Amino acid sequence: MDDCIFCQIVAGDIPSRTVYEDDDVLAFLDANPLAPGHTLVIPKAHHERLNDLPADVGSAVFAAVHELTPAVEDAVDASASTVAFNNGEAAGQEVPHVHGHIVPRFEDDGGRPIHALVSERPDLSDAALDDIADAIAGH
Ligand code: 5GP
Ligand code: ZN
Repeated sequence: MDDCIFCQIVAGDIPSRTVYEDDDVLAFLDANPLAPGHTLVIPKAHHERLNDLPADVGSAVFAAVHELTPAVEDAVDASASTVAFNNGEAAGQEVPHVHGHIVPRFEDDGGRPIHALVSERPDLSDAALDDIADAIAGH
């Protein structure tokens, strides 16, 4: 993917502040951080969404997120972090190459929890919830 920013970072054509690297995964500081230490964790191979990742690459990405989260928090003396993937354009994903965000959080940082994603929550009946649960479980 010649025109993918993150593929160009993997190739070394665009510089980044790399904090972790293995055969499948690269992690580097976000260029426009939401907090000091804001880190992105990406598969080296180009895949647009989490849904597109082969299982072994998904496992490698999550293993790196798991290992890096405490390292990121400790590096900037954060007491917590928000860890999230914008998965697809409608969810706000701007760079179409899978990336997890590790955003360090601090008491009174003015940030909000993941429940602030929507301003209006859907009113779902028990039957609708049962159908959704069945559809997910039966996938
Ligand atoms: P998204 O909105 O797609 O989940 O997040 C994309 C993230 O990539 C943003 O937080 C943005 O600051 C970061 N980003 C975009 N271009 C670059 C870049 O060239 N280098 C680095 N290090 N981060 C980038
Ligand atoms: Zn890419």
